[in-house]
Amino acid sequence: MANEIKIILEKCVGCTLCVKSCPFGAISMANKKAVIDLGKCTLCGACVDICKFKAIELKKGVVAKKDLKAYRDVWVFCEQKKGVIQSISYELLGEGKKLAKKLGGKLCAVILGEGVSSKVDELSARGTDKVYLVDSPHLKYYQDDPYTNVLVDLVKEHKPEVLLCGATTIGRSLISRVAVKVDAGLTADCTGLDIDEKERLLLQTRPAFGGNIMATIITPNHRPQMATVRHKVMKEAEIHKSHKAEVIRKTYPEALLVSRTKLLDIIEEIEETVNLSEADIIVSGGRGLGGPENFAIVKDLAMVLGGAVGSSRAAVDAGWMPYSHQVGQTGKTVCPKLYIACGISGQIQHLIGMQSSKVIVAINKDPDAPIFKVATYGIVGDVFEAVPALTKEFRKILKK
Ligand SMILES: Cc1cc2nc3c(=O)[nH]c(=O)nc-3n(C[C@H](O)[C@H](O)[C@H](O)COP(=O)(O)OP(=O)(O)OC[C@H]3O[C@@H](n4cnc5c(N)ncnc54)[C@H](O)[C@@H]3O)c2cc1C
Repeated sequence: MANEIKIILEKCVGCTLCVKSCPFGAISMANKKAVIDLGKCTLCGACVDICKFKAIELKKGVVAKKDLKAYRDVWVFCEQKKGVIQSISYELLGEGKKLAKKLGGKLCAVILGEGVSSKVDELSARGTDKVYLVDSPHLKYYQDDPYTNVLVDLVKEHKPEVLLCGATTIGRSLISRVAVKVDAGLTADCTGLDIDEKERLLLQTRPAFGGNIMATIITPNHRPQMATVRHKVMKEAEIHKSHKAEVIRKTYPEALLVSRTKLLDIIEEIEETVNLSEADIIVSGGRGLGGPENFAIVKDLAMVLGGAVGSSRAAVDAGWMPYSHQVGQTGKTVCPKLYIACGISGQIQHLIGMQSSKVIVAINKDPDAPIFKVATYGIVGDVFEAVPALTKEFRKILKK
């Protein structure tokens, strides 16, 4: 899989157009000829396009068909914060197990951090066959450079066929860097994964064109096949405490673990009044509520049920609710046991964020509202009658 960029010296006239075009400051002039710093170059091709003299040649490698066979197993990058494995990792292990089975490969977890050796049992119990473990004080907190360097090295050495990562803030930052460095594609924000068993291809499904279609993306020529997956769209791997994984401990020289950025401090986010992503019960309001003051009825019901308050984007855009409450494609993906949608029409962009909820109750005065297509129970009626009535009844019942 050779990647190559080079200046054809006899064609280079020293015009410096390429120097100005490089977004990464990777090109300089020496003896009136362009010189590329390969340490900085990302092979983006901007210089190739700008050069009028065809003096820059870029060859992007494709894994030769015979070499595709060298890539095996399904890897899950298991995110941890302060030593706590994030639940998205268990969701990916659950899905990864199914993919590994179809590919006839192993399910492998990758965990990086300080003091994370103690996490091996937890990962084993989730059905992993192998755990790649890198335990170092340099990896205590997530930082782009050392985490990328380590994961790239692991990928190059052990050649996974599939590499999955959560579509979280850390996951998005890390895995895009890894994809560039191993010259692989990356499908972000997948909501569905499967395997084409004949071709050994990962089928990566995600919403496209504003959520109006679901696109399935494949990566036939590059390895690993890489995807990030949204939180709460897949079921967590079951726990089998007796299951034991093989552990592969790796150490790295300090030079590989240094970061170009200096971590000064970590300031915990001031917790929102609700943590929508983790809530078991969510009561959400939409434009049907008519104004910000009417969210009081939604909040009352949520409080009585011990749930969190969600919102459609229409209510957020109108300034009725803060963005942190938005459920949907451009908000949070949630998967509570109970989701009550009040005055929400159920456009695809909203459904994407909540349709895997266990029980969905929809309250809408329009019997043809699309939300009823995904609802377990539907109340065709006015939210201003139905919601307070539910609150009253639940308050009575739950008090007993
Ligand atoms: C790229 C893109 C991303 C998007 N991302 C998101 C996202 O993340 N989340 C999201 O929610 N949307 C998102 N949207 C917007 C989405 O398309 C819809 O516009 C939005 O979800 C509509 O919100 P709503 O259901 O509250 O409002 P409406 O569609 O206006 O529906 C209001 C509903 O309330 C009902 N109603 C009115 N009065 C009452 C009453 N008194 N009692 C009972 N029912 C009543 C009506 O019958 C209607 O069905 C996105 C759109 C795009 C293009």
